[in-house]
Amino acid sequence: MSHEVVIIGSGPAGYTAGIYAARANMNPLLIEGEQWGGQLMFTTDVFNYPGFPEGVDGPKMMELFREQAQKQGTEILTEFVTKVDFSTRPFGVYVGEKRYDAPSIIVATGATAKWLDLPSETELRKVGAVSACATCDGPLFRGKDVVVVGGGDTAMEEATYLAKIVKSVVVVHRRDALRASKVMQDRAFKTPNLSFLLESCVRDIQDPSKQEVTGVVVENLKSHDQKLVPAQGVFVAIGHKPATEIFEGKLELNPQGYIVVKPGTTATSVPGVFAAGDVQDPTYRQAVTAAGTGCMAALEAERWLAAQ
Ligand code: NDP
Repeated sequence: MSHEVVIIGSGPAGYTAGIYAARANMNPLLIEGEQWGGQLMFTTDVFNYPGFPEGVDGPKMMELFREQAQKQGTEILTEFVTKVDFSTRPFGVYVGEKRYDAPSIIVATGATAKWLDLPSETELRKVGAVSACATCDGPLFRGKDVVVVGGGDTAMEEATYLAKIVKSVVVVHRRDALRASKVMQDRAFKTPNLSFLLESCVRDIQDPSKQEVTGVVVENLKSHDQKLVPAQGVFVAIGHKPATEIFEGKLELNPQGYIVVKPGTTATSVPGVFAAGDVQDPTYRQAVTAAGTGCMAALEAERWLAAQ
């Protein structure tokens, strides 16, 4: 039986699209990538996904999403999509030389947070003491001191959100001026327990041997003086990168590389191709919003096919 939809990418958006498309008898094929599950595979406990009052392990949650998609009838392929052809009908999705055809496509390839690429950061991410999501992990640092890295809107948003929960926030930014919009900067400047270390960068995070953050080594880029900023948590907010390389020139992307969708829908610039989750969402980036747009994409694909 042919597939009425191919879903590219896994994570909350892709698996939710699979659940809905399978239940609508669309015989979905979900090509999940070689590393399935998306960003939640790199988190520890998730406390903000409704339905889990005690929290849930991120990778465990993705296993459950995946199992549910399969149980509903989604065919899952653990392969990496190398190319797409949206110029033909049906559309083509390639894994190497092998082409999979479908009259509709849902793109749910996600985005990844950018990291500082320090060995100590990588170690301490594993225990959840270094994070890229304040709304997810901020409450773990209630009453503690944290460092936020970055000078854009995300950094200001994360810093002001955290300031309501934690004892103090120090924002470390590499330039002498912030990139964030004026309104976000003003809000941050007015927050009493939030301070800035400008023209500075993080050289190290202590202390991986204790499996916890005890402080951040910050270097002033002008004087090259280093100091230890005491902290128990670090939030890296230096931008995200949507996984859209294979869609360049095929779907409309915004200047940051996110897929542009018609507001309030998941419709992309190509009729019959829908996008869900973080790949089209630079704003919310939550598991629950990704799952929500995955549901929308499946419903919209079903309606679009019915109208053809
Ligand atoms: P941005 O690319 O805007 O900002 C990234 C920040 O991180 C910059 O200050 C940059 O420094 C810094 N940075 C980048 N790489 C490094 C590095 N290796 N080491 C240290 N610092 C680094 O990303 P955002 O996620 O903040 O925002 C992305 C988009 O989403 C923007 O268009 C933003 O406006 C939008 N957004 C809007 C929000 C809202 O309106 N509520 C909320 C959040 C995001 P430098 O400035 O020197 O380049």
